[in-house]
Amino acid sequence: MATLSGSAASTRTLQNFIGGRWVDSAATQFGEVRNPANDLLLARVPMGGAADVDAAVQAATKAFPAWRATPPVNRVRPLFVLRGLFEKYFDDISRIVTLEHGKTLDESRSSVRRAIDNIEVACGIPSLMQGRSLEDVATGIDCYTYRQPMGVFAAITPFNFPAMVPMWFLPHAIACGNTFVVKPSERVPLSQVRIFELLHEAGIPDGVVNMVNGAKDAVDAILDHPGIAGVSFVGSSPVAHYIYKRGAERGKRVQALGGAKNFVLVMPDADMNRAAQVSTESCFGCAGERCLANSVVLAVGSAYDTMVEKLVAEARKIKVGDGLEGGITMGPVISKAHREKVLGYIEKGVAEGATLALDGRGFSDPKNPNGYFLGPSVFTNVKPDMVIAREEIFGPVLCIMKADTFEEAVATVKKHELGNASSIFTSSGKYAREYRWHVEPSMLGVNIGVAAPMAFFPFGGAKGSFFGDLKAHGQDSIEFYTDKKVSITRWF
Ligand code: NAD
Repeated sequence: MATLSGSAASTRTLQNFIGGRWVDSAATQFGEVRNPANDLLLARVPMGGAADVDAAVQAATKAFPAWRATPPVNRVRPLFVLRGLFEKYFDDISRIVTLEHGKTLDESRSSVRRAIDNIEVACGIPSLMQGRSLEDVATGIDCYTYRQPMGVFAAITPFNFPAMVPMWFLPHAIACGNTFVVKPSERVPLSQVRIFELLHEAGIPDGVVNMVNGAKDAVDAILDHPGIAGVSFVGSSPVAHYIYKRGAERGKRVQALGGAKNFVLVMPDADMNRAAQVSTESCFGCAGERCLANSVVLAVGSAYDTMVEKLVAEARKIKVGDGLEGGITMGPVISKAHREKVLGYIEKGVAEGATLALDGRGFSDPKNPNGYFLGPSVFTNVKPDMVIAREEIFGPVLCIMKADTFEEAVATVKKHELGNASSIFTSSGKYAREYRWHVEPSMLGVNIGVAAPMAFFPFGGAKGSFFGDLKAHGQDSIEFYTDKKVSITRWF
């Protein structure tokens, strides 16, 4: 029998959440959600399409007039309740993230904390959504801008932060008065099932938030649906570009956050111990499946030899295993297929002539022989034109490159087609400033490994890592989810 948990107890086939109820999908195809630490089947996920998306959009469209007419102070009340429910079930949600994704429990907790941060920011909508005004733009004429919600928005999200990424968007969108449809990653839909139970419990009116399970067919139905005003996307760059193009062609607002290849530049004057420790955490955290992972260390001059030695030593300390176990610092990758893909990159690196200074290929966990594990791998002598330096590996593989000068390092970063995040380690304010000034990645760390903007700053990259203009989070989010109406007023 179907329950509010979105699964039928016997088969654990997930349902969609539409109009305030858990309902069966019209799908005839199903995917599998497996625990990456042991390959056990957790659930079957329907591969929904146009019929499911249309049902969700209809529910969201029906809910829009009353929600839009609800004053902002009242709209955020259920979000305050939701925040409390996230705190209450913090460990419950974090555990589900680890089960379906594989990252360690601590990593899952950090991501759920970021989800809460976003809910907190959205609770400030009565202040954030205010417009501007000027009295007497001409004699006796006043001018006001009002921010107005636009209708139904949708989010299409990736596998690597199952609880957090949808919460980059949903709280802001609905606090602005829109209604919403989430299409979670078909690989990790379980934490969203739990979160939608909490959205319901928080008292968000029926139809304001909806969830549809599926993959490409559901995405295409979202992009093509005339009832959807805008789409927020996070995922790989080729798909981000596709979403941006197809959504924009149909007149929608689109913000599409894509993939990454993030460089960390280490100057000879940096604190080498800290640089090595922080960049190891940055590269191997979440098994390298993080859009902010510093996956290439670009060491300048004499920093190279020191960094090679220290980075390999740091990487050796990583303890790989089931993320639910204490003491584990790196979990498995998301799937068998992804493990094979990462192995393919390692083989490619060896074939291209890079030196595999630490080889994680042979790792296996005797307690979990079926898990999708890889140990940390470190390549040295990497050159900018090698495939491992150009393409996003999205796994536990660190590439170390040498640049003779700061200028050469900057040129390497600028030449790369992606530009999500980057960091510099230095004790020189001058180099830090020069770096920030010259390179394009728009999330920039100075002596910081993961330059993740907080929920009240914009989140998103540049070049091939981002398609659109308004980024996720903070004030950009309010811009994205509202139209500015200018009212020019004269009274006789
Ligand atoms: P993905 O592009 O494979 O999938 C993302 C979403 O798009 C999923 O919901 C999926 O169902 C859908 N999708 C996949 N293929 C599609 C297709 N051909 N047509 C239409 N829809 C499709 O990404 P992923 O593997 O789930 O996530 C990893 C990627 O996300 C990495 O590239 C990572 O860098 C990126 N990412 C970026 C950020 C950021 O802030 N820029 C944050 C997290 C993840």
